Amino acid sequence: MYPRVLIDLDKFKDNVQVIKNRLNNCDIGIFGVSKVFCCDIKLAEVFDDLQLDAIADSRIENLQSVNHFNINKVLLRLPMHSEIKDVVKYSDISLNSEISTIKLLSNEAMRQNKTHGVILMVDLGDLREGCFDRAELMNMAQAAAQLEGIKLLGIGTNLTCFGGIIPKQSHMDDLIEISNEIQTKFNIKLKYISAGNSSSYYLTQKQELAKEINNLRIGEIFVCGRETAFGDAVEGTHQDVFTLEAEIVELKQKPSMPVGEIGMDAFGGTPTFEDKGMMTRAIIACGKQDVNIDNITAYDKDIEIIGSSSDHIIVDVTASKQNYKVGDTLKFSLSYGGILSVMTSKYVNKKYIKN
Ligand SMILES: *Cc1c(COP(=O)(O)O)cnc(C)c1O
Repeated sequence: MYPRVLIDLDKFKDNVQVIKNRLNNCDIGIFGVSKVFCCDIKLAEVFDDLQLDAIADSRIENLQSVNHFNINKVLLRLPMHSEIKDVVKYSDISLNSEISTIKLLSNEAMRQNKTHGVILMVDLGDLREGCFDRAELMNMAQAAAQLEGIKLLGIGTNLTCFGGIIPKQSHMDDLIEISNEIQTKFNIKLKYISAGNSSSYYLTQKQELAKEINNLRIGEIFVCGRETAFGDAVEGTHQDVFTLEAEIVELKQKPSMPVGEIGMDAFGGTPTFEDKGMMTRAIIACGKQDVNIDNITAYDKDIEIIGSSSDHIIVDVTASKQNYKVGDTLKFSLSYGGILSVMTSKYVNKKYIKN
């Protein structure tokens, strides 16, 4: 059944293994981030098999689905007050930035007779989650160090997510300074200094990262084979773990310009067109409910994606050297956003391939 996403488990495994070896060589452990593939069980199993330090996901229901794995589970998104029970039940560690939430975690952990690990998030300027204010951070660290039921395990930061800020050595220095201050002030040892995501990877390869940094949370490099500070392919990794396949349901000669007065398209936008004369247009059975066309690239370099609606993608195949027929399939590579949406769409079948 199409559309479907081909998932190459061997290539995924290679990517995880290569990065794990490199980071372990610099004494950096990895939380394997599974949110982009909705914690798909076969992919999450790779994190477990290769013994990463944890599976990390933003949604507690995804972590619940891998509850039977022994590997640690980390909730990446700041916990909602309304989900505290499940957070304590299905994750070992959560990332936090609100004292009210930490207090709820403490109470619930005591109720469940557990110790829940807390990593405090520091905002170093990317302006998504974390404490920007140092005094507030120290107050929170004090509470987290003292409250029962929880254990303050570390601090972390997230960069290149909202503000597009590129991780620099100075961010690492800030993080280390904060960690030292917390350790001295509250007389505790922090297990994790978690220096970011796939965008911080490049710093580890410059051999100048301070030894105190000991954790990264990696998703994109594993699924796309690209680091995210500069978008470069990472040496020794595969960029084609995921491939989208969709089927042609119509193939016809049609004008490139719509005929009639142009009002609105199906999504309320006003479309514009360039007159290229008659063209061979294919409709494939896949649409916005599955993936945004900005996030896919056709394998056939001679075809051009013209547009899409909920369930259709329209492609200009005029220049293609292939002799397409109705019923043929087209293949597309996927960017991070594309992987995210095809893995989330219930209409896209998942097919695992092994070499
Ligand atoms: C998604 C996420 C990551 C992983 O980011 P990648 O760019 O996919 O490596 C790490 N940390 C947090 C808090 C996240 O939300």
